[in-house]
Amino acid sequence: MKFNTSLLHTVKPDKNSRGETIPPIYQVSAFAYDSAEQLEKVFNNKAAGFSYTRVGNPTVDAFEKRIAALEGGIGAVACASGMAAISSTLLNILQAGDEVIVSTGLFGGTIELFEDLSAFGITAHFLESVTYETVSAAVNENTKAVFTELIGNPKLDVADIGGISKACKEAGIPLIVDSTTATPYLVNPLKLGADIVIHSTSKYINGGGNSISGVIVDGGSFKWNSGKFPNFGDFAKYGIFAFMFKLRNRIWRNTGSCISPFNAYMNIVGLETLGLRMERCYDNALKLAEFFEQTDGVTVNYPALPSSPYYELAKSELSGRGGAIVTIRAGSREKAFALMNNLKYASIATNIGDVRTLVIHPASTIYTHSTEQQRISAGVYGDSIRISVGIEDAEDLIEDFAQAIAAAKI
Ligand SMILES: *Cc1c(COP(=O)(O)O)cnc(C)c1O
Repeated sequence: MKFNTSLLHTVKPDKNSRGETIPPIYQVSAFAYDSAEQLEKVFNNKAAGFSYTRVGNPTVDAFEKRIAALEGGIGAVACASGMAAISSTLLNILQAGDEVIVSTGLFGGTIELFEDLSAFGITAHFLESVTYETVSAAVNENTKAVFTELIGNPKLDVADIGGISKACKEAGIPLIVDSTTATPYLVNPLKLGADIVIHSTSKYINGGGNSISGVIVDGGSFKWNSGKFPNFGDFAKYGIFAFMFKLRNRIWRNTGSCISPFNAYMNIVGLETLGLRMERCYDNALKLAEFFEQTDGVTVNYPALPSSPYYELAKSELSGRGGAIVTIRAGSREKAFALMNNLKYASIATNIGDVRTLVIHPASTIYTHSTEQQRISAGVYGDSIRISVGIEDAEDLIEDFAQAIAAAKI
């Protein structure tokens, strides 16, 4: 099966199906049983079944199975948001005294989360560039994971997952990849050596900008019983399933990070058109990026342009695609604001992965709590605009940006 067929046909209907073409919304909190004995079994993982939607739900389960299949993982856990997916993953692995190697080009919320974790004795070591060499040099005996985005949002630096995973394997630590901006259409990080993949499914997987949500996929490739993770305790005996089992039974469940059945349903609907949407978004992004490259007064950053330092990596790792985010620099904050205010089609909004084109000035919004140094390390300048390219007609988008650039006197 090729990609688009697999989106529709990989996961077979549930055995309780009545022939519904997509999984229905089980909008309930609890599931009743005929006997106390039965509920006891479900609670103790001795019988399959659902007890309470914070812990599991058939619609959520259907979504998780689709994502696990799509990424080639042994299982997936859906979460209330992308940030819930990231925080649950980190808290499932780490304890006080642990250190994580992290790229500076991360999403602003993730950078702030690492700062929050310092209050719990967890230290993040930020690297400008996360590669085999830099990771190997930075690892020490307290390092318990490497965390990177596959295509940094909004730095648009592309991570060499093969190289980084080699360094992780040598150090005996897991590689966690936030692949939100790359999407499973471009790349399956688990196949390149990542151990855990995270998506903010609020973005491309949902595709319609209608459901905050996230997902964690476990590749089943990491051995948690090496002695390096004493906090896994009894869970270590589950071998490759230890991460998923611990996650589901402890931190994810107990922080209440579950997704709502309705949002899981919206994501299932969105997922079915992921391939069609991404194809169009990438085409539009490349056309827009090429247009900006020809335009005086703006500079453009897009990994699929030969001018990008990540061009070769995008070629080998992402089959030459660059994702659907383009960033430009307009010359000054004032010009950037004027450009944005003059756009007819692009909405000024803090989101990516919608079918409609969205623009934002990251320095004054997503990175407003960051220091100047953090912003620059994340590729965010005072005059930067991030464009999340939608599925409109490329001609209309180019015409719109051309008139806004002229109106902003750039
Ligand atoms: C949006 C985003 C997140 C956070 O996801 P939410 O669903 O907003 O919580 C994390 N990582 C990346 C790369 C994102 O773009």
